[in-house]
Amino acid sequence: MTLLRHTTSEVKERTNLTVNPAKTCQPIGAMYAALGLHGCLPHSHGSQGCCSYHRSTLTRHYKEPVMAATSSFTEGSSVFGGQSNLVSAIDTIFTTYDPDVIAVHTTCLSETIGDDIPQIIEAAKDKGNIPEGKHVIHCNTPSYVGSHVTGFANMTTGFVKYFAEKTDEKTDTLNLIPGWVEPGDIREMKRIAEVMGVNTITFPDTSGVLDAPQTDTHEMYPKGGTTVDELKRTGASKGTVALGSFASGPAASELEINYGVPNTIIDLPIGVQATDRYVQALAEMASVDVPASLTDERGRLVDMIIDMHQYTAGKRVAVFGDPDQLISICEFLVALDMKPVYVVTGTPGKAFLRRMKQVLGTYVPEAEVAQGNCADMLLLHQLIKKEPVDLLIGNTYGKYIARDEDIPFVRHGFPILDRQGHQHLSTCGYLGGIRLLEKILTVLMDRQDRDSPEESFELTM
Ligand code: SF4
Repeated sequence: MTLLRHTTSEVKERTNLTVNPAKTCQPIGAMYAALGLHGCLPHSHGSQGCCSYHRSTLTRHYKEPVMAATSSFTEGSSVFGGQSNLVSAIDTIFTTYDPDVIAVHTTCLSETIGDDIPQIIEAAKDKGNIPEGKHVIHCNTPSYVGSHVTGFANMTTGFVKYFAEKTDEKTDTLNLIPGWVEPGDIREMKRIAEVMGVNTITFPDTSGVLDAPQTDTHEMYPKGGTTVDELKRTGASKGTVALGSFASGPAASELEINYGVPNTIIDLPIGVQATDRYVQALAEMASVDVPASLTDERGRLVDMIIDMHQYTAGKRVAVFGDPDQLISICEFLVALDMKPVYVVTGTPGKAFLRRMKQVLGTYVPEAEVAQGNCADMLLLHQLIKKEPVDLLIGNTYGKYIARDEDIPFVRHGFPILDRQGHQHLSTCGYLGGIRLLEKILTVLMDRQDRDSPEESFELTM
């Protein structure tokens, strides 16, 4: 059954209506970031429904059990505030689940009530509910503004505010803030830094947490994640490389402004040019050379791009998702001689349109770039109906459009609820670029095979 057959190609002016948003809510991002801290239990300060939704979406994407606690608001807490719920939750969590850190994020309800989380944390401390050596941190995530990316950025900035220590003595280490990417992407970013001989403190680091190996025993807190000690030392690092201005920019700015750690905020290293900038930033900030092995990896990706140019050249592409990903993916698509004609994100933020203009430049003057509340899946579908595309790239929610319009579809971004592998196999770095290009080529060549008349159906392509 096709679920969106009713969509028309006529795009009507809308101001106050979102249909199938191209984003999700702030606390999911805060919860994901908190899982990148070793020994941390995320805590949702609101009602159970919010927490269940966030946990289940993360669990379905990462195919791992996502643990999180909730303040379990009732009618009473909705009227009088959630202080007593949170104070007793902190006691129960430390007594029963023994995390190193509880990372509290708010929800629409607790934000509307106006609960003062730092004051509640102080109250829990005064009651003796926070054991020696344990920590409770927080960030505000009102979901009626921003998106899941905002929530991720807020929690990541919270790590710095709560843990980083000020010092004039700087080390040789670089802070690496990888942004909202897959655990496999973080692994790849760290590998690149490692082969360059650059010491990094990576945060948040969900590798080894949300792609943890199967063992005989259940680990409530898997061995991955940034430690509190590492976070304390981020204030002493000689610099910060932040990937993705939306997800990582605020934490990097916090470190620069309040801890004197200079930063370079660049795009996510997806595709050749963005990976070049990542490698260059590491090389310059750490004063190291780029090893020949990385130059070879780059060469292999460039070789594949040239070899496969005939299949990608001039193809029209629709892309939707999060701004940090979209900027780099569109730059990569342009490098492949493809045309990202429709680009849609529900996440607000001024820098996006400016950066997209630079990326698409004069190469795709016809591109329609939509952002904000009315930049939703309905708009994307209508644009595609008006003038079709050869390829759709985005999260699982794109499958309805892909099916209705019979478009080759590459799943990328968050959430991916109906496929495997994204959490392990990176699309970042030069090797990740090869994987992403392979995924694009596979769906395009499958389509060519399917549509070829018998006389031109080729064994070798
Ligand atoms: S939008 Fe608000 S109420 Fe809905 S799940 Fe998110 S935090 Fe909870």
